[in-house]
Amino acid sequence: MSYINIYTNNLHHNINFLAKKAGGIEKIMAVLKDNAYGHGLSLIASKVSSFGVTSAITRDFEEALKIENFFENILVLSEHIKNIKPHSKIIFTINSLEDIVNFPKKTRVALKVDTGMHRSGIKMNEFLSACKAIEKNELKLHSIFTHYRSADEVGSDFFWQKQNFNLIKNEFNEIKHNFSFKNILFHSCNSAGLLRAHYFDEDLARIGIAMYGYTTLPKSFGVFDLKPVLELFAEQISSRKLLVGEKVGYGGEFCAHEEMISSLYDLGYGDGLFRYSGKKELKTTDGSLFLGRFSMDNISINSEKKAISIFHDVSSWTDNFETIVYDQLVKLSPKIERRLI
Ligand SMILES: *Cc1c(COP(=O)(O)O)cnc(C)c1O
Repeated sequence: MSYINIYTNNLHHNINFLAKKAGGIEKIMAVLKDNAYGHGLSLIASKVSSFGVTSAITRDFEEALKIENFFENILVLSEHIKNIKPHSKIIFTINSLEDIVNFPKKTRVALKVDTGMHRSGIKMNEFLSACKAIEKNELKLHSIFTHYRSADEVGSDFFWQKQNFNLIKNEFNEIKHNFSFKNILFHSCNSAGLLRAHYFDEDLARIGIAMYGYTTLPKSFGVFDLKPVLELFAEQISSRKLLVGEKVGYGGEFCAHEEMISSLYDLGYGDGLFRYSGKKELKTTDGSLFLGRFSMDNISINSEKKAISIFHDVSSWTDNFETIVYDQLVKLSPKIERRLI
């Protein structure tokens, strides 16, 4: 059976590195949405909590409930209002002003402010109205946050959005004495935002991809000491010798120009791998050639290994598919066994 190794030491290393950058482990919110970026939700939750992380982020209520025993605070990013119920540990995101009246009383909430991404969140000029509605509806405000549209790109976007968020912080300081809000936390940075910061002075940082060992920041921002947490393996089902001129797989895309070994392995695009068309050269971690198109449940490789690493560094893998590391990681089927190393 194909399997995934999760390297606990690398996870620990990345978290320590990021906690140092943030100014304390208590500032790290571990982003565990989408099955912890494909790494395995419960596995990663139990590990990061054992390393001292007390806050996490999930996509929805269901994911949050699965890990409620590991954290003090779990921020849910996008849940339908009809599913929201007050919970002592779970914090729901307010994504629009109109929604506030629909939250059940006493629900813990985080207010998302749109500072320029224009995807969700209240508008900046709705901030005072939002605060009033939160107080009136007796919601428990945990934090105020925003999200950058270009945290990992060179350019001015990051800076004017940051400036906009500063305006919100200032506005809050001017109006807060009119409200009963206490210990409100501010956060704006994802991995790229934290890594590029020369000086980090916010209360929390929402860390996903860097915890798993990657950054999408251009090299000009520096080289960061992050280690990939996940390695994907496939196991051999059968092996054969190809004769000169024999073609492998659908469409006969690969043709043997010399006698060579072709083994069949138990992983395919049905397990969430991108489909390789067999056209350009593609290699496994140890440099073995993939032979021909990927099938749904199988791939052919020029190797005799019983178990072979398909990728360890996902970033060099996704370069072949013109996509980002997030995309391949989250697609890895939850059915693949995750092994803690
Ligand atoms: C996914 C997500 C993050 C984490 O982003 P990374 O680039 O993986 O660190 C942070 N904040 C929000 C709102 C997100 O949706």
